[in-house]
Amino acid sequence: MTSYDVAVLGAGPAGLAAAWRAARRGRSVVVLERSERLGGMSASFDVAGVRVDHGSHRLHPATPPRLLADLRELLGADLQTRRRHGRLRLAGTWTGFPLRGGEVVRALPPALLAAAGRDAVIATLRRRDDSSYAAALRSGLGDTLYELVYAPYAEKLWGLPGERIDAHQARVRVSADTPAKLAARLLRPRRSGSRGGQGQVFHYPRRGFGEIAEAIAQAAVDAGASIRTTTEVSAVAPDSSGVTVETAGGGSLSARHALSTLPLPLLARLSRPCPPADIGESAAALRFRAMVLVYLVHEGGRWSPYDAHYLPGRETPVSRLSEPANYRSSVDDPADRSVLCAELPCAIGDPVWRAGDQELAELVTAGLAVSELPRLRLRAVEVRRLPRVYPVFDTGYAARLDVLDAWASSLPSLTSLGRLGLFAHDNTHHALAMGYAAAEAIGPDGALDRVAWARARQRFTTHVVED
Ligand SMILES: Cc1cc2nc3c(=O)[nH]c(=O)nc-3n(C[C@H](O)[C@H](O)[C@H](O)COP(=O)(O)OP(=O)(O)OC[C@H]3O[C@@H](n4cnc5c(N)ncnc54)[C@H](O)[C@@H]3O)c2cc1C
Repeated sequence: MTSYDVAVLGAGPAGLAAAWRAARRGRSVVVLERSERLGGMSASFDVAGVRVDHGSHRLHPATPPRLLADLRELLGADLQTRRRHGRLRLAGTWTGFPLRGGEVVRALPPALLAAAGRDAVIATLRRRDDSSYAAALRSGLGDTLYELVYAPYAEKLWGLPGERIDAHQARVRVSADTPAKLAARLLRPRRSGSRGGQGQVFHYPRRGFGEIAEAIAQAAVDAGASIRTTTEVSAVAPDSSGVTVETAGGGSLSARHALSTLPLPLLARLSRPCPPADIGESAAALRFRAMVLVYLVHEGGRWSPYDAHYLPGRETPVSRLSEPANYRSSVDDPADRSVLCAELPCAIGDPVWRAGDQELAELVTAGLAVSELPRLRLRAVEVRRLPRVYPVFDTGYAARLDVLDAWASSLPSLTSLGRLGLFAHDNTHHALAMGYAAAEAIGPDGALDRVAWARARQRFTTHVVED
């Protein structure tokens, strides 16, 4: 059986970053990836000759400087800095997104603004109520804003009313969760050009967001790592001397340590010996939201000048509509067509998940019409289904996650990390930071420095998701 210092399970940003950094530190590394493509949720692929992503992806300016410097070195001029140019549908009208005070005031009905302002003043006098996502945002921002934006958004994204979602979701997802923070965001100065302030610019590679993962994968291979695609992990057996990993094709290998970025509940199902029954129950009760991505090929050049349209309302099942060619400047993008990507959060097996391509195209175009968006000259449709995109922090999830996390942390010779491996609604730069930290915690003997990893886990709790 082939043996390595480190076996990385999954080749998304977390796994690839871990593999690259571990290989650079002289470890022998193998990466096992189920898909034929690298990058996980952060991968790119071609639709009608246009590079597209799994929904709207941008590298946020919040990316730690050390990571950004590494990515600049790997990607060179391909990593572009772009000014954000999105729109948000609010109260039947469009306003620029990220939000800007003057524009919001001009766009929204005065009665609604007055109600939101009055609520916000009252909210500053109230104690914050952290009994649920709904309670936290109602007490923080007031009922008007909650009902207008955050209630329908929660139902769409996580499939639950805000009262059944843990307040943790509000903490990690809504950074402007008090009137003061919201005001600061609305009133922040608008700087010109690509040097706009925090939140106004983003980084994006010329050949699609997936170019980031591809560049890291190449760096990992250059540093000596071996990457095996179309290799699905089917069982992992960790013990104190190392870990044996079995793959769906009947292969197996051993390593001193495994870094798993697989979804945590899946890790519990694949572990040998099987975990105790209560672990299996906690794993089965942790829920993920699925997503159907509908790619619509538009005939006749760009469909709009915007990068993304945000649609929190109930009038369409689409949560966001992006036009990848508007995220970059690239001569490779064709002039005679564009591709839109519609994100439809859903549950596995529900009507959206099961709908055929044509039905989905009709659902999206109906959403365009009610949202007063330009007509689409539809040439073709392609659909992708992702079974696990958003961890669902329903009320009670924390106790189940604690049980599962304590079990996973007690496994010898295996560490779980990444967005799905830690059940965290994190961005790519967070996943990359996890990969770096995991690689740095592996010592020369291939064993994990548990103190260093515990410190890193503590840092991960400060991650705030950027939109
Ligand atoms: C719609 C959407 C929009 C997003 N927008 C942004 C954004 O704008 N900016 C941003 O920074 N982030 C964004 N993200 C988040 C970003 O995609 C993730 O944070 C990132 O991809 C997580 O990386 P990861 O390596 O932890 O996990 P993943 O990307 O999920 O990678 C895990 C890998 O494990 C593999 N795997 C699973 N099971 C097995 C198995 N049994 N055997 C072998 N391999 C397996 C998978 O195929 C996958 O490649 C967005 C995500 C979504 C869904």
